[in-house]
Amino acid sequence: MKGKVYLVGAGPGDPELLTVKAARILREADVVLHDDLVTPEILSLASSSALVVNVGKRCGRKGVVQEEINALMIAHASDGRAVVRLKGGDPLVFGRAGEECDALGEAGVEFEIVPGVTAAFAAAAAAGISLTDRRFASKLVFLAGRRAAASLARDSSGGGIACDATLAIYMPGEFYGRFAEELTAAGWSADTPCLIVSGAATPGQKIARTHLRNLPQSPRLPAPAVLIVGAVAAERRTAPFESEPPAEIYAALASERS
Ligand code: SAH
Repeated sequence: MKGKVYLVGAGPGDPELLTVKAARILREADVVLHDDLVTPEILSLASSSALVVNVGKRCGRKGVVQEEINALMIAHASDGRAVVRLKGGDPLVFGRAGEECDALGEAGVEFEIVPGVTAAFAAAAAAGISLTDRRFASKLVFLAGRRAAASLARDSSGGGIACDATLAIYMPGEFYGRFAEELTAAGWSADTPCLIVSGAATPGQKIARTHLRNLPQSPRLPAPAVLIVGAVAAERRTAPFESEPPAEIYAALASERS
């Protein structure tokens, strides 16, 4: 029997945001290699006979981790197993999936990608904003942490990212001050709305609003968090702030399992 690797998006946390396909593949998997951000509720969907391994960066290993993950996927698939490489959000968004696909391809291992709901989309839904509301934005830019701060001030044309963009900044970490500085230097108004969503679509979801001017002093919400910058972030349609997703979802899943 030939094995196969599935690069699967687990979504932002809420098990109901897993695709039907992701849930099926997870149930059928022989091996699940998952990142730290994947919640226990989602992992509990795997078969009790499956080998489930946390290969996340925060589980203490460094350096060769990516090569190790590639080797594990290849070894299990070569032994004929169905391997799920389970990543938070969408597997192709800031997740090193490109490197993993290259390694699988070079090893001649068959693989398939199952998309997921990326954090920025869950954050926008939680706050009730449209990231591409045509009245305020004409583009959506995905950026990641440290590298975002460096690239904000210059795009390929040598200018800054135009102010009609919505920025979805993943892993904003310690860089709020730098984002604010770079963007205002590139001509963005200090009044540009900013939204920070922590733990989107999880029971700990928190939403904070500010403006570029106050971003450096804004409270650091716990990781994982995304920062959304742009005029669309001022909109407010659904969720009241500091709201939580319905706890009954988790309760229902727990009782289904027991
Ligand atoms: N592939 C993932 C992103 C991986 S990078 C995706 O598509 O969402 C990890 C970063 O994603 C975190 O540092 C954080 O910025 C963001 N993130 C992941 N889950 C999140 C959540 N539930 N709420 C807010 N941000 C989240």
